[in-house]
Amino acid sequence: MRCPIILGHILSIAGHSSHSQIGWKRWLSELSLTWKGLLFSLILAMRRVAPLSLVLLSACSTHAFSGSKAFNHVRYLHSIGPHPVGSRAQEQARDYITQSLQTNGWQVQVNPFSYRGIQGFNILAFKGDGPGILLGTHYDTRPVSDRNPPHLQHMPVPGANDGNSGTAVLLELARCLKEPEGFRLWLAFFDAEDRGNIEGWPFSVGAYFASQLNLDLAAVIVVDMVGDANLEIYQEANSDRALTESIWRLAQELGLSKYFIPQVKYSIIDDHLPFASRGIPSALLIDFDYPYWHTSNDTPDKVSPKSLEIVGSVLKAWVEKEGKRWTEKR
Ligand SMILES: [Zn+2]
Repeated sequence: MRCPIILGHILSIAGHSSHSQIGWKRWLSELSLTWKGLLFSLILAMRRVAPLSLVLLSACSTHAFSGSKAFNHVRYLHSIGPHPVGSRAQEQARDYITQSLQTNGWQVQVNPFSYRGIQGFNILAFKGDGPGILLGTHYDTRPVSDRNPPHLQHMPVPGANDGNSGTAVLLELARCLKEPEGFRLWLAFFDAEDRGNIEGWPFSVGAYFASQLNLDLAAVIVVDMVGDANLEIYQEANSDRALTESIWRLAQELGLSKYFIPQVKYSIIDDHLPFASRGIPSALLIDFDYPYWHTSNDTPDKVSPKSLEIVGSVLKAWVEKEGKRWTEKR
């Protein structure tokens, strides 16, 4: 919200210069020497790279998490169709994620694994050095809508919220998070989470393989189904208490307690558990009160850019304020 105000202010200064030379000169003569120096270095620095308004607009979007940019990822991932583990569409999703990460300067590795004759691929990206913090999500979608009416259960889940919302939040974080200092930040996109309870598959197969990599992690935060327009994220029973409380405390400080409700409601099997079982503090952010869960109605119109922005902003603030502390306190 601060950016448009700054932009308006600077543009009004620029407006002075074009409309009235006398007004501009008087305004300038009233500035102290220090301010004059600062102003001229700022203008010179910005002129070197781009027109004034463009620089300010990009400064605006560079630092803040943008819900609308995240929602563009939801739309794209929806446009390639459902992408369960092992599908052709999943290759396209993987290319898209990998390219988005590389464009934003992340070191990317694609880790193949095989389970029951199907090849899955985890995507892991990192920036920074030192002990690790991992933000994770699953990027596969569920191959069947087992909560549809019986005659429609063969349809795949489009996964706008279940799969694509978490992926979108992590991709937008990849754009707006700066390189961490003193620790390594991992962004993980797990395959084969959502084939669970189908043909004998468990949930979180990809996350299990990723948890075996010994990445030297101090904390893991998983996001899943975080785009519901009616956002209500309750604490989750299998999550680490201290880690959960540090996230909810930060949400409260940001005035977001309406969306991050400080009560435990569900106990959920998800991608945080393989890491928790290895003794790594792990937490899950999920809005499990989603009527379209595992149905063919899990489409982008049920997902809200505002909800993505709320979750992304809390995660960004957590990484910036708590990330280093968590790696130090191990
Ligand atoms: Zn699911």
